[in-house]
Amino acid sequence: MSLADNLKALQDRMASACARAGRDPASVSLVAVSKGHPPETVCAAADLGITVFGENRVQEAKAKIPLCPGRLKWHMVGHLQTNKVRDALTLFDMIHSVDSLHLATEINKAAERSSRFVPVLLEVNVAGESTKYGYNPDTLLAELPMLNALPRLEIRGLMTMAPWTPDPERVRPVFRRLRELKEKCEEILGAPMEHLSMGMSGDFEVAIEEGATMVRIGTALFGERPKKD
Ligand SMILES: *Cc1c(COP(=O)(O)O)cnc(C)c1O
Repeated sequence: MSLADNLKALQDRMASACARAGRDPASVSLVAVSKGHPPETVCAAADLGITVFGENRVQEAKAKIPLCPGRLKWHMVGHLQTNKVRDALTLFDMIHSVDSLHLATEINKAAERSSRFVPVLLEVNVAGESTKYGYNPDTLLAELPMLNALPRLEIRGLMTMAPWTPDPERVRPVFRRLRELKEKCEEILGAPMEHLSMGMSGDFEVAIEEGATMVRIGTALFGERPKKD
C-alpha cells in the first residue's frame, strides 16, 4: 500500500468511528507520528495534505524539522527531559507530554524567557503502568491549580497512551476514564479544555468513540518504523 492509500484508509476508518459515535469528523484531528522516519517521508505526507506531525525525541526532531516544509506544525508526544525544554520550545507548537509540576515549571520559565505562551496537554498514566510516563490521576487533580497558575502554560487538555493490547475493546475503559478525568479538571479550572489526545494505530477507533479530539498515528500511516541499529 502507498502512503496515499494508507491515508485514505485511515481517514475512512476515522470517519466511520465518528459516524458510530454521532460525532462530526471535523472534531477529530490527525497527528502523524513521524518518529523513526526520514524527512522525505514527512514531505510526502505533507504533499498529501497532512499538516500536523508528532515526534517523541527532541534530538531526532532537531535534525528532521529543518529539512521539512516550514508551514508544518510539530507536536512533542514523547517524554520531555527538563534539559531539553529550551530546544523543545523552539521546535514544537504543542507539547502533549507534561507529566510533572517540575517539568511544567521549567517550560514556564523557558517560555517566559522567550516571551512565548506554550499550548500543552497533561499526560496521564490512566492504567498505572510502571513502564509508562504520565500523571497519576489523583496527583493531577491535586496539582492542577498549581499547573494552571503558571502564566505561560496554556493547558489545552489531556493525553494518554493506553496499554498495548491485541483487542482494543479492552482499553475502552482507559479512554473513558481520561474523558471523565477531563470533566473533573474542567470543574476545577472552571473552564472547558479543548483536547483529548488519545488513540494510536491499534486503538484509535475506540478512542474516537470515547471522545478523542486528536489521534496520534504512526504505523497505520507510514508502516512499520525502520529498525534502529
Ligand atoms: C509512537 C507513538 C505513537 C504512534 O504509535 P503507532 O502505534 O505507530 O501509531 C503515538 N503516541 C506516542 C506517544 C508515541 O510515542
